[in-house]
Amino acid sequence: MAIASREDILPHYRETPIGLLLEYHNFGRDFDTYADAKLLIGMCMDNRKHLHIPDNFAFIIRAGGANLRYSEFKVSYAIAVGGIRCIALIGHTQCGMVNLVARKDQFVQGLVNAAGWQRQSAEEHFSHFAPMFEIGNEVDFILAEVKRLRLQYPRILIAPLLYRVEDNRLYLMREGTDDGR
Ligand SMILES: [Zn+2]
Repeated sequence: MAIASREDILPHYRETPIGLLLEYHNFGRDFDTYADAKLLIGMCMDNRKHLHIPDNFAFIIRAGGANLRYSEFKVSYAIAVGGIRCIALIGHTQCGMVNLVARKDQFVQGLVNAAGWQRQSAEEHFSHFAPMFEIGNEVDFILAEVKRLRLQYPRILIAPLLYRVEDNRLYLMREGTDDGR
């Protein structure tokens, strides 16, 4: 869902840090001053993405594919100690964690050539980790992750977003009628 005006922000995200993230990034809203983080952002490590947000506004966990399955302790910490009550999980177009198997040869060859690995170790490394980090499809993955996180942290407001690297804009992902709330 394109977010071009405040009315495009779903009502339950307006007036929350998730709505503010959309306003700062998409609308260039003037930055407010923050002493404490208000939001946890999970996003991919991909270098093509830069968020336009104020200092101190958000904790950011960057991991391939915005996959937080292996960052659970950090999520819990941001809530329990960091005091955040909202999470924005941001997938993006052209994500390298989609269809990893297509890049297996490049991955293995790259480790052999650039890092000095033995071919067999590189192949085993790929085979061991690729299934853990493969996300399949960026939209379906983010929607499923958001569902999982909502079950894990039922009082936290969690939103699925998409960053389009083609226009550097944030979009809200449309969810079914049962959006877990
Ligand atoms: Zn990515």
